[in-house]
Amino acid sequence: MAYLSLQAINKIYPNGFHAVHNFNLNIEKGEFIVFVGPSGCGKSTTLRMIAGLEDISNGDFLINGERANEWGPQKRQIAMVFQSYALYPQMTVYDNIAFGLTLMGVDEDEIDARVKKTAGILGLTDYLDRLPRALSGGQRQRVAIGRAIIRKVGVFLMDEPLSNLDAKQRVTMRAEISQIHRQTGATTIYVTHDQTEAMTMADRIVIMKDGYVQQIGTPYDVYFNPRNVFVAGFIGEPPMNFIRRTVRGGAIELNGQKLDLALAMGRACPELEGREIVFGFRPEGIQLNALDKEAYRITGVVELTEMLGDNANVYMNIGEERAILKVTPHQIPQMDQELTFTIPYKNVYLFDGGSEKVLTANKGNKA
Ligand code: ATP
Repeated sequence: MAYLSLQAINKIYPNGFHAVHNFNLNIEKGEFIVFVGPSGCGKSTTLRMIAGLEDISNGDFLINGERANEWGPQKRQIAMVFQSYALYPQMTVYDNIAFGLTLMGVDEDEIDARVKKTAGILGLTDYLDRLPRALSGGQRQRVAIGRAIIRKVGVFLMDEPLSNLDAKQRVTMRAEISQIHRQTGATTIYVTHDQTEAMTMADRIVIMKDGYVQQIGTPYDVYFNPRNVFVAGFIGEPPMNFIRRTVRGGAIELNGQKLDLALAMGRACPELEGREIVFGFRPEGIQLNALDKEAYRITGVVELTEMLGDNANVYMNIGEERAILKVTPHQIPQMDQELTFTIPYKNVYLFDGGSEKVLTANKGNKA
Protein backbone atom coordinates (compact mmCIF):
# COMPACT_ATOMS: atom_id res chain seq x y z
CA MET A 1 0.00 0.00 0.00
CA ALA A 2 1.31 3.44 -0.92
CA TYR A 3 2.15 5.81 1.93
CA LEU A 4 0.46 8.80 0.28
CA SER A 5 -2.13 8.41 -2.42
CA LEU A 6 -3.69 11.15 -4.53
CA GLN A 7 -6.70 9.78 -6.35
CA ALA A 8 -8.40 11.86 -9.05
CA ILE A 9 -7.68 15.07 -7.15
CA ASN A 10 -9.16 18.29 -8.51
CA LYS A 11 -8.94 21.88 -7.36
CA ILE A 12 -11.53 24.42 -8.38
CA TYR A 13 -10.98 27.79 -6.69
CA PRO A 14 -14.01 29.73 -5.40
CA ASN A 15 -13.80 32.03 -8.46
CA GLY A 16 -14.44 28.96 -10.62
CA PHE A 17 -10.85 28.55 -11.88
CA HIS A 18 -10.00 24.86 -12.36
CA ALA A 19 -6.33 24.83 -11.25
CA VAL A 20 -5.71 21.06 -10.94
CA HIS A 21 -7.35 18.35 -13.07
CA ASN A 22 -7.61 14.68 -12.13
CA PHE A 23 -4.23 14.34 -10.39
CA ASN A 24 -3.29 10.70 -9.64
CA LEU A 25 -0.13 9.67 -7.80
CA ASN A 26 0.95 7.02 -5.30
CA ILE A 27 4.00 7.87 -3.20
CA GLU A 28 6.02 5.25 -1.32
CA LYS A 29 7.62 5.89 2.06
CA GLY A 30 11.02 7.56 1.68
CA GLU A 31 10.54 8.67 -1.91
CA PHE A 32 11.77 12.06 -3.12
CA ILE A 33 9.11 13.35 -5.49
CA VAL A 34 9.50 16.57 -7.47
CA PHE A 35 6.58 18.50 -9.00
CA VAL A 36 7.92 20.55 -11.89
CA GLY A 37 6.36 22.75 -14.53
CA PRO A 38 6.04 26.34 -15.71
CA SER A 39 4.56 29.09 -13.55
CA GLY A 40 0.85 28.64 -12.91
CA CYS A 41 0.69 24.93 -13.78
CA GLY A 42 -0.76 23.98 -10.36
CA LYS A 43 2.30 22.69 -8.48
CA SER A 44 1.85 24.84 -5.37
CA THR A 45 -1.90 24.27 -5.33
CA THR A 46 -1.36 20.49 -5.30
CA LEU A 47 1.29 20.77 -2.58
CA ARG A 48 -1.01 22.95 -0.46
CA MET A 49 -3.82 20.40 -0.80
CA ILE A 50 -1.43 17.72 0.47
CA ALA A 51 -0.42 19.99 3.37
CA GLY A 52 -4.05 20.62 4.33
CA LEU A 53 -3.72 24.34 3.64
CA GLU A 54 -6.14 24.23 0.72
CA ASP A 55 -9.39 22.26 0.38
CA ILE A 56 -9.54 19.40 -2.10
CA SER A 57 -12.51 20.12 -4.41
CA ASN A 58 -12.95 16.48 -5.35
CA GLY A 59 -10.99 13.25 -5.31
CA ASP A 60 -9.43 11.37 -2.39
CA PHE A 61 -6.20 11.98 -0.50
CA LEU A 62 -5.05 8.94 1.51
CA ILE A 63 -2.34 8.68 4.16
CA ASN A 64 -1.44 5.07 4.94
CA GLY A 65 -4.67 4.00 3.30
CA GLU A 66 -6.88 6.31 5.37
CA ARG A 67 -8.88 9.09 3.75
CA ALA A 68 -7.29 12.31 4.99
CA ASN A 69 -9.15 14.98 2.96
CA GLU A 70 -10.64 16.52 6.09
CA TRP A 71 -7.61 16.14 8.40
CA GLY A 72 -5.93 19.30 9.66
CA PRO A 73 -2.24 19.94 8.95
CA GLN A 74 -1.24 18.67 12.45
CA LYS A 75 -2.91 15.30 12.09
CA ARG A 76 -1.32 14.78 8.67
CA GLN A 77 2.16 14.75 10.27
CA ILE A 78 3.53 16.96 7.53
CA ALA A 79 6.10 19.78 7.75
CA MET A 80 6.44 22.44 5.09
CA VAL A 81 9.45 24.55 4.05
CA PHE A 82 8.43 27.68 2.17
CA GLN A 83 10.11 29.88 -0.42
CA SER A 84 10.65 32.66 2.12
CA TYR A 85 12.43 31.23 5.15
CA ALA A 86 10.19 33.08 7.64
CA LEU A 87 12.75 32.88 10.45
CA TYR A 88 12.16 34.88 13.64
CA PRO A 89 14.72 37.71 13.33
CA GLN A 90 15.09 38.31 17.08
CA MET A 91 15.68 34.62 17.89
CA THR A 92 18.99 32.76 17.63
CA VAL A 93 19.45 29.86 15.23
CA TYR A 94 19.05 27.54 18.24
CA ASP A 95 15.71 29.06 19.24
CA ASN A 96 14.47 29.18 15.67
CA ILE A 97 15.14 25.47 15.24
CA ALA A 98 13.70 24.67 18.69
CA PHE A 99 10.60 26.85 18.32
CA GLY A 100 8.14 24.21 17.11
CA LEU A 101 9.12 21.77 19.86
CA THR A 102 8.94 24.50 22.53
CA LEU A 103 5.39 25.28 21.42
CA MET A 104 4.52 21.60 21.68
CA GLY A 105 5.80 21.61 25.27
CA VAL A 106 8.56 19.08 24.62
CA ASP A 107 10.94 18.58 27.56
CA GLU A 108 14.00 20.89 27.50
CA ASP A 109 16.64 18.16 27.54
CA GLU A 110 15.01 16.44 24.66
CA ILE A 111 14.77 19.73 22.73
CA ASP A 112 18.46 20.34 23.35
CA ALA A 113 19.43 16.90 22.09
CA ARG A 114 17.27 17.21 19.00
CA VAL A 115 18.45 20.75 18.15
CA LYS A 116 22.06 19.61 18.38
CA LYS A 117 21.45 16.55 16.25
CA THR A 118 19.57 18.60 13.63
CA ALA A 119 22.29 21.27 13.62
CA GLY A 120 24.86 18.52 13.10
CA ILE A 121 23.03 17.12 10.06
CA LEU A 122 22.74 20.63 8.59
CA GLY A 123 26.26 21.85 9.38
CA LEU A 124 24.89 24.57 11.69
CA THR A 125 26.60 23.53 14.94
CA ASP A 126 28.89 26.56 14.94
CA TYR A 127 26.07 29.00 14.24
CA LEU A 128 23.56 28.14 16.96
CA ASP A 129 24.10 31.41 18.87
CA ARG A 130 23.79 33.66 15.84
CA LEU A 131 20.80 35.70 14.77
CA PRO A 132 19.44 35.07 11.26
CA ARG A 133 20.71 38.42 9.97
CA ALA A 134 24.28 37.21 10.58
CA LEU A 135 23.82 34.21 8.25
CA SER A 136 24.17 33.77 4.49
CA GLY A 137 21.08 32.96 2.41
CA GLY A 138 22.08 29.30 2.24
CA GLN A 139 22.56 29.08 6.00
CA ARG A 140 19.16 30.69 6.61
CA GLN A 141 17.60 28.17 4.28
CA ARG A 142 19.24 25.38 6.29
CA VAL A 143 17.75 26.79 9.49
CA ALA A 144 14.33 26.77 7.83
CA ILE A 145 14.87 23.12 6.82
CA GLY A 146 16.07 22.41 10.38
CA ARG A 147 12.81 23.70 11.80
CA ALA A 148 10.97 21.23 9.61
CA ILE A 149 13.15 18.14 10.09
CA ILE A 150 13.42 18.49 13.88
CA ARG A 151 9.73 17.67 14.13
CA LYS A 152 10.32 14.10 12.91
CA VAL A 153 7.20 14.17 10.79
CA GLY A 154 6.48 11.63 8.09
CA VAL A 155 6.49 13.98 5.11
CA PHE A 156 8.37 17.12 4.10
CA LEU A 157 6.87 19.48 1.61
CA MET A 158 9.16 22.06 0.04
CA ASP A 159 7.87 24.86 -2.17
CA GLU A 160 10.70 26.36 -4.27
CA PRO A 161 12.97 26.45 -1.20
CA LEU A 162 16.02 27.59 -3.20
CA SER A 163 14.49 30.43 -5.17
CA ASN A 164 15.97 33.17 -2.96
CA LEU A 165 19.53 31.89 -3.37
CA ASP A 166 22.03 32.81 -6.06
CA ALA A 167 22.99 30.28 -8.74
CA LYS A 168 26.07 28.93 -6.91
CA GLN A 169 24.28 28.58 -3.57
CA ARG A 170 21.42 26.79 -5.31
CA VAL A 171 23.78 24.13 -6.65
CA THR A 172 25.31 23.61 -3.20
CA MET A 173 21.96 23.50 -1.37
CA ARG A 174 20.55 21.14 -3.99
CA ALA A 175 23.21 18.60 -3.08
CA GLU A 176 22.73 19.28 0.63
CA ILE A 177 18.99 18.66 0.47
CA SER A 178 19.62 15.37 -1.35
CA GLN A 179 22.12 14.47 1.38
CA ILE A 180 19.67 15.38 4.16
CA HIS A 181 17.07 13.26 2.43
CA ARG A 182 19.44 10.30 2.39
CA GLN A 183 20.22 10.79 6.09
CA THR A 184 16.64 11.26 7.31
CA GLY A 185 14.96 8.93 4.82
CA ALA A 186 11.87 11.15 5.01
CA THR A 187 9.29 11.17 2.28
CA THR A 188 9.70 14.47 0.47
CA ILE A 189 7.63 16.36 -2.08
CA TYR A 190 9.52 19.24 -3.64
CA VAL A 191 8.11 21.90 -5.95
CA THR A 192 10.24 23.74 -8.49
CA HIS A 193 10.02 25.24 -11.98
CA ASP A 194 13.67 24.33 -12.56
CA GLN A 195 14.14 21.14 -14.57
CA THR A 196 17.76 20.78 -13.44
CA GLU A 197 16.67 20.69 -9.77
CA ALA A 198 14.03 18.16 -10.69
CA MET A 199 16.43 15.94 -12.64
CA THR A 200 19.20 16.00 -10.04
CA MET A 201 17.14 15.48 -6.89
CA ALA A 202 14.10 13.38 -7.73
CA ASP A 203 13.45 9.68 -7.43
CA ARG A 204 10.41 10.43 -9.58
CA ILE A 205 9.37 13.61 -11.36
CA VAL A 206 5.80 14.77 -11.91
CA ILE A 207 5.72 17.14 -14.88
CA MET A 208 2.69 19.44 -14.97
CA LYS A 209 1.25 21.93 -17.43
CA ASP A 210 -1.96 23.98 -17.20
CA GLY A 211 -3.23 21.94 -14.24
CA TYR A 212 -2.70 18.57 -15.94
CA VAL A 213 -0.06 15.94 -15.16
CA GLN A 214 1.91 15.38 -18.37
CA GLN A 215 4.13 12.52 -17.21
CA ILE A 216 5.34 10.81 -14.04
CA GLY A 217 8.65 8.97 -14.16
CA THR A 218 12.26 8.67 -13.09
CA PRO A 219 14.68 11.30 -14.41
CA TYR A 220 16.00 8.66 -16.83
CA ASP A 221 12.52 7.89 -18.06
CA VAL A 222 11.35 11.44 -18.67
CA TYR A 223 14.58 12.30 -20.49
CA PHE A 224 14.76 9.25 -22.77
CA ASN A 225 11.08 8.48 -23.10
CA PRO A 226 9.15 11.75 -23.00
CA ARG A 227 5.48 11.05 -23.56
CA ASN A 228 4.77 14.21 -25.53
CA VAL A 229 6.27 17.32 -27.12
CA PHE A 230 5.84 19.36 -23.94
CA VAL A 231 7.85 16.97 -21.75
CA ALA A 232 10.48 16.51 -24.46
CA GLY A 233 10.93 20.28 -24.67
CA PHE A 234 10.80 20.91 -20.93
CA ILE A 235 13.39 18.35 -19.83
CA GLY A 236 16.90 18.91 -21.21
CA GLU A 237 19.04 21.99 -21.67
CA PRO A 238 19.24 23.38 -24.34
CA PRO A 239 15.80 21.97 -25.17
CA MET A 240 15.09 19.35 -27.82
CA ASN A 241 14.90 20.70 -31.40
CA PHE A 242 11.47 20.33 -33.04
CA ILE A 243 10.61 20.46 -36.73
CA ARG A 244 7.07 20.03 -38.11
CA ARG A 245 6.62 18.24 -41.42
CA THR A 246 3.98 16.39 -43.43
CA VAL A 247 4.81 12.77 -44.27
CA ARG A 248 5.17 12.12 -48.03
CA GLY A 249 6.30 8.82 -49.53
CA GLY A 250 7.15 7.40 -46.09
CA ALA A 251 9.57 10.22 -45.35
CA ILE A 252 9.91 13.80 -44.21
CA GLU A 253 12.29 16.23 -45.82
CA LEU A 254 14.49 18.86 -44.25
CA ASN A 255 16.58 21.15 -46.45
CA GLY A 256 16.34 18.61 -49.27
CA GLN A 257 17.45 15.69 -47.07
CA LYS A 258 15.02 12.85 -46.55
CA LEU A 259 14.41 11.03 -43.27
CA ASP A 260 12.98 7.57 -43.96
CA LEU A 261 10.44 7.12 -41.18
CA ALA A 262 10.55 3.32 -41.30
CA LEU A 263 14.22 3.51 -40.27
CA ALA A 264 13.51 5.98 -37.46
CA MET A 265 10.49 4.01 -36.21
CA GLY A 266 12.09 0.61 -36.64
CA ARG A 267 9.04 -0.57 -38.59
CA ALA A 268 6.94 0.31 -41.63
CA CYS A 269 4.46 3.05 -40.75
CA PRO A 270 1.95 3.52 -43.59
CA GLU A 271 -0.52 5.04 -41.11
CA LEU A 272 1.60 8.21 -41.01
CA GLU A 273 1.25 8.93 -44.74
CA GLY A 274 -0.07 12.46 -45.31
CA ARG A 275 -0.09 13.26 -41.58
CA GLU A 276 1.72 16.10 -39.92
CA ILE A 277 4.37 14.96 -37.47
CA VAL A 278 6.89 16.64 -35.21
CA PHE A 279 10.47 15.46 -35.66
CA GLY A 280 12.60 16.00 -32.56
CA PHE A 281 16.27 15.57 -31.72
CA ARG A 282 18.29 16.66 -28.73
CA PRO A 283 21.24 19.06 -29.18
CA GLU A 284 23.46 16.40 -27.59
CA GLY A 285 21.96 13.59 -29.70
CA ILE A 286 23.97 14.44 -32.83
CA GLN A 287 27.37 13.39 -34.16
CA LEU A 288 29.90 15.32 -36.20
CA ASN A 289 32.17 13.57 -38.72
CA ALA A 290 30.45 10.26 -38.02
CA LEU A 291 30.15 7.67 -40.75
CA ASP A 292 27.30 5.88 -38.98
CA LYS A 293 24.97 4.49 -41.64
CA GLU A 294 22.14 4.09 -39.14
CA ALA A 295 21.74 7.82 -39.03
CA TYR A 296 20.04 10.81 -40.66
CA ARG A 297 22.47 13.22 -42.33
CA ILE A 298 21.65 16.93 -42.33
CA THR A 299 23.58 19.85 -43.74
CA GLY A 300 23.06 23.43 -42.61
CA VAL A 301 24.91 26.67 -42.05
CA VAL A 302 26.46 27.72 -38.73
CA GLU A 303 24.82 30.91 -37.51
CA LEU A 304 26.38 31.33 -34.08
CA THR A 305 28.52 29.43 -31.60
CA GLU A 306 28.63 29.67 -27.81
CA MET A 307 31.65 28.34 -25.93
CA LEU A 308 30.53 27.18 -22.48
CA GLY A 309 33.73 25.50 -21.28
CA ASP A 310 32.95 21.80 -21.07
CA ASN A 311 30.84 21.98 -24.23
CA ALA A 312 29.61 24.45 -26.83
CA ASN A 313 26.27 25.30 -28.45
CA VAL A 314 26.11 25.64 -32.22
CA TYR A 315 23.10 27.49 -33.67
CA MET A 316 22.28 26.15 -37.14
CA ASN A 317 20.23 27.40 -40.05
CA ILE A 318 18.84 24.37 -41.86
CA GLY A 319 16.86 25.66 -44.82
CA GLU A 320 13.95 27.52 -43.25
CA GLU A 321 14.45 25.79 -39.87
CA ARG A 322 16.79 26.47 -36.97
CA ALA A 323 18.34 24.05 -34.50
CA ILE A 324 20.87 23.97 -31.67
CA LEU A 325 23.64 21.36 -31.54
CA LYS A 326 25.84 20.56 -28.56
CA VAL A 327 29.47 19.81 -29.42
CA THR A 328 32.75 19.47 -27.56
CA PRO A 329 34.95 22.61 -27.25
CA HIS A 330 37.33 21.03 -29.78
CA GLN A 331 34.62 20.67 -32.40
CA ILE A 332 33.46 24.30 -32.57
CA PRO A 333 32.95 25.16 -36.26
CA GLN A 334 33.53 28.52 -37.97
CA MET A 335 30.56 30.88 -38.27
CA ASP A 336 28.82 30.92 -41.67
CA GLN A 337 30.45 27.60 -42.54
CA GLU A 338 28.44 24.74 -44.00
CA LEU A 339 28.26 21.88 -41.52
CA THR A 340 27.03 18.33 -41.92
CA PHE A 341 25.95 16.37 -38.85
CA THR A 342 24.21 13.07 -38.30
CA ILE A 343 21.47 12.00 -35.95
CA PRO A 344 21.59 8.26 -35.17
CA TYR A 345 18.09 6.82 -35.66
CA LYS A 346 18.01 5.80 -32.01
CA ASN A 347 18.17 9.54 -31.17
CA VAL A 348 15.30 10.51 -33.48
CA TYR A 349 11.98 11.31 -31.78
CA LEU A 350 8.72 11.54 -33.68
CA PHE A 351 5.47 12.95 -32.31
CA ASP A 352 1.97 13.19 -33.72
CA GLY A 353 1.43 16.70 -35.11
CA GLY A 354 -2.09 16.96 -33.65
CA SER A 355 -2.05 15.28 -30.23
CA GLU A 356 1.72 15.90 -29.85
CA LYS A 357 2.00 12.41 -28.31
CA VAL A 358 5.18 10.44 -28.93
CA LEU A 359 5.20 7.92 -31.81
CA THR A 360 8.67 6.48 -31.23
CA ALA A 361 9.05 4.35 -28.09
CA ASN A 362 11.61 3.00 -25.63
CA LYS A 363 14.53 5.16 -26.65
CA GLY A 364 16.30 4.55 -23.35
CA ASN A 365 16.51 0.83 -24.05
CA LYS A 366 18.48 1.46 -27.20
CA ALA A 367 20.84 4.07 -25.73
P1 ATP B 1 4.26 29.21 -9.55
O1 ATP B 1 5.47 28.45 -10.01
O2 ATP B 1 4.12 30.52 -10.26
O3 ATP B 1 4.11 29.29 -8.07
P2 ATP B 1 2.33 27.04 -9.63
O4 ATP B 1 2.52 25.99 -10.65
O5 ATP B 1 2.74 26.73 -8.24
O6 ATP B 1 3.00 28.39 -10.11
P3 ATP B 1 -0.26 27.57 -8.53
O7 ATP B 1 0.19 28.59 -7.55
O8 ATP B 1 -0.62 26.24 -8.04
O9 ATP B 1 0.81 27.43 -9.70
O10 ATP B 1 -1.50 28.18 -9.32
C1 ATP B 1 -2.17 27.43 -10.33
C2 ATP B 1 -3.22 28.31 -10.97
O11 ATP B 1 -4.25 28.61 -10.02
C3 ATP B 1 -2.68 29.65 -11.45
O12 ATP B 1 -3.27 29.96 -12.69
C4 ATP B 1 -3.14 30.61 -10.38
O13 ATP B 1 -3.35 31.91 -10.92
C5 ATP B 1 -4.44 29.99 -9.91
N1 ATP B 1 -4.73 30.32 -8.51
C6 ATP B 1 -3.91 30.19 -7.45
N2 ATP B 1 -4.50 30.55 -6.30
C7 ATP B 1 -5.74 30.95 -6.64
C8 ATP B 1 -6.89 31.45 -5.91
N3 ATP B 1 -6.85 31.60 -4.59
N4 ATP B 1 -8.01 31.74 -6.61
C9 ATP B 1 -8.05 31.56 -7.95
N5 ATP B 1 -7.05 31.09 -8.70
C10 ATP B 1 -5.90 30.80 -8.06
